Amino acid sequence: MNAYDFAELTLFITGPISLRPEVRQAALLPEFGHRDSENLKRFVPIFRHLRTIAGLDGDGGYEVIVFNGSGTTVMEASIRSLVADGETVLNVSMGAFGDLYHKLAVANGKLAVQHRIPAGRTIDLAELDGLLEAHAPAVVTITHNETSTGVMSDIEGACALVRKHGALPLVDGVSIFGATDVRIAEARPAMYCTSTQKALGLPAGFGIAFVAREAEEKAAAVTNKGYASDLLAQLGRSRKHQTLTTPNGALANQMFVQLSYIVEEEGVAARFARHVALRDMAHAWVESRPDLELFAPEGFRSPTMTAVTAPQGSTPEKLRTFKEAMRTEGYLFDPGYGKVNDDLVAQGARPIFRIGHMGDMGLDTLERYLEVLGRRLDDLA
Ligand SMILES: *Cc1c(COP(=O)(O)O)cnc(C)c1O
Repeated sequence: MNAYDFAELTLFITGPISLRPEVRQAALLPEFGHRDSENLKRFVPIFRHLRTIAGLDGDGGYEVIVFNGSGTTVMEASIRSLVADGETVLNVSMGAFGDLYHKLAVANGKLAVQHRIPAGRTIDLAELDGLLEAHAPAVVTITHNETSTGVMSDIEGACALVRKHGALPLVDGVSIFGATDVRIAEARPAMYCTSTQKALGLPAGFGIAFVAREAEEKAAAVTNKGYASDLLAQLGRSRKHQTLTTPNGALANQMFVQLSYIVEEEGVAARFARHVALRDMAHAWVESRPDLELFAPEGFRSPTMTAVTAPQGSTPEKLRTFKEAMRTEGYLFDPGYGKVNDDLVAQGARPIFRIGHMGDMGLDTLERYLEVLGRRLDDLA
């Protein structure tokens, strides 16, 4: 199978992730026509299972869209379709992916205000209240799980506050959906954006959106939504369990197989519990070592990845060299998000590295990795 000298590494980055063998195999299932009845055999269960994983088994007031593209495509569509001319969008950023939402707003010509929270901190609701008061935004973007820092946010608290000020909350849940109960029905974002290649354990290629009824109403009043970024055009197709444009059929087959596995074999509750166990294992390992510290604040630590303050004397460059040492052990180590580490170092702080533990990773795989990581770090010291 592997005749191309491609390294078979176990990925401990924060997406993409290592695939189950069954998911790799599923790429070999038959191709199909996306406007044919065969499409329904894949996409009816895909849509149903996405609702189950989202906790939206009933209607819940949300519709599901599968986008060609990735998480960014869905985030861009949310901006393009839900922020009207003359309105302000407030982009609350806890790191690189919060910054991405702002970039998308600016690139699409929207009136955008960015609020940046220092890396390693989460949203402070009192501070958010003040920002909402000061800027009176029509739309607010929030990152559920900031992948560049491993910090989660309280989306229920933040969305409620945003609504209290009469604005629409949009949530980027790209790196957490599929690992935990994201409580969309309780948080009530106007739109929740995610994608396939992180906690769902699939290759990249589809973005996924959960869209509230009010978002559809809002989109009807927004002009210049583009085409593929127009939620109304997308909803027209998703109501037929189709994608707007031709989907990657191999990925659709893989998604059918993987989501069926998650819902019918592993079980959604068991999957969420496994991610908690992975997180706890990573935390216990960090806490067992005097040279390391957890970067994210207690109570806001991600279930899909652990950000670790690197040992004294570490530099971003040393972490990149360390990544190559880990490669020789068969692992793809994550040396931290470039810009976050450059900023930390500029402030005189130690850089971070990340341990991605999402998708279908078993506890045994993480345990082996931590053992090797610990041994290699000891060699370094
Ligand atoms: C990976 C990631 C994105 C970007 O998603 P793509 O699928 O690569 O477009 C956006 N937000 C967060 C929080 C992410 O982790």
